[in-house]
Amino acid sequence: MRSLLLIEDESAIADTVIYALESEGFQVIWVTLGLEGVDILQADPDIALVILDVGLPDSNGFEICKAIRKFSDVPLIFLTARNDEIDRIVGLEIGADDYINKPFSPRELAVRVKVILKRMSPGSKSLDTTKSSFEINTQLAEISYFKKPLNLTRYEYLILQLLLKQPKRVFSRPQIMEQVWEMTGTSLERVVDTHIKSLRTKLREINTEDSPIKTHRGLGYSISS
Ligand code: CA
Repeated sequence: MRSLLLIEDESAIADTVIYALESEGFQVIWVTLGLEGVDILQADPDIALVILDVGLPDSNGFEICKAIRKFSDVPLIFLTARNDEIDRIVGLEIGADDYINKPFSPRELAVRVKVILKRMSPGSKSLDTTKSSFEINTQLAEISYFKKPLNLTRYEYLILQLLLKQPKRVFSRPQIMEQVWEMTGTSLERVVDTHIKSLRTKLREINTEDSPIKTHRGLGYSISS
């Protein structure tokens, strides 16, 4: 059984989340304090996913997320109550995989959890490594470029992995969003541009000669592997 960690101080919300996820066969560890959650995660690397409230009694979700990202790449979903919180999650690229607005349907949360866990599971198609300057290791969720592992955020990894699945194919921003974020409309298209920009910077650090990610004006992005 896969364990999920829920960090949420409101017991009514926690109850519905736990109920929804346990009905889907997950085991839920629930804590009300952010730092308590960090401790548990450090002690138990098998936790498959974290659901994190933004407003917590001892800290806030952003700080807790940063603390978690220092040692763990575990998938993370934010529970948010306000729009300005969403802007921070998206804008700061603090390493969240998704967010869900309060009030939310527990069912929807369960669906998102399953989608993220499925997306992170190994077994995606690999590309022809004999010709490519990229190498994907889906087990480690790592991509190398000219044999050098890239230090990617989760979204950068997912975008690059998507582009590399079909080199030369042009993906529009909505297509990238749909594939990477799964649910269209939950995020902003310009966020794709931001991630692409930082991906390019990271690729350029390894190879200044080439810029494999192409922009197709009005259409989207493609990669030459
Ligand atoms: Ca709260």
